[in-house]
Amino acid sequence: MNVLIVEDEKRMAELLSTGLKEEGHTTTCAYDGEEGLSLARNYQFDAIVLDLMLPKLSGYEVARQLRGEHNPTPILMLTARDTVEDVVKGLDLGADDYLTKPFSFDELLARLRAVARRGLSTSPKLQVGDLVLDPASREVSRSGMLINLTRTEYNLLEKLMRKHGHVVARQALIESVWGFDREVEENTLDAFMRLLRNKIDRPGMARLIHTSRGVGYYIRQEAQ
Ligand code: CA
Repeated sequence: MNVLIVEDEKRMAELLSTGLKEEGHTTTCAYDGEEGLSLARNYQFDAIVLDLMLPKLSGYEVARQLRGEHNPTPILMLTARDTVEDVVKGLDLGADDYLTKPFSFDELLARLRAVARRGLSTSPKLQVGDLVLDPASREVSRSGMLINLTRTEYNLLEKLMRKHGHVVARQALIESVWGFDREVEENTLDAFMRLLRNKIDRPGMARLIHTSRGVGYYIRQEAQ
């Protein structure tokens, strides 16, 4: 597994990192919430070990933002606090499991394996024609060829593929990708859709992404 560790106590982060590496995993460490969020957004991890009390951005906020952006990476939250309220809040915000400090390393490993497995099994692949999107790995391919998408392009495509065959309204696309509280120019959406289209519908391929003028976009394999 490729694991992101977000933990401001350097000794704890190192301990986790060393332990996971000894078990054959790859690790990346972030020491505050902002750095963790940025890494989680820009790289693909199989799981995130996320401390709750972090400088700059709390673990709650990191989890909330990632889930708001439909980032499906399994999250195991770590905390020194152990009240029921904290557990419920963390799980409500999208954490997959919760571990209270102090914990044994074996327990962490077991929980991590469990959340990563759940992450994989609850996200079946989406397919339209020869276009396949795997929410677990965030990989997209067409006719077996991997397509490199930015996070925004990926999120737009996933939204369209989940509504396969139906027009997704412009506002719904904007909200699902940029959130409710962000002002996004209407033509920003079109600019991103153009970039996405250039990557998905290459010259000579059947067109999958279609425009419903003034209404929105949809993805569909047209009859040959
Ligand atoms: Ca901390």
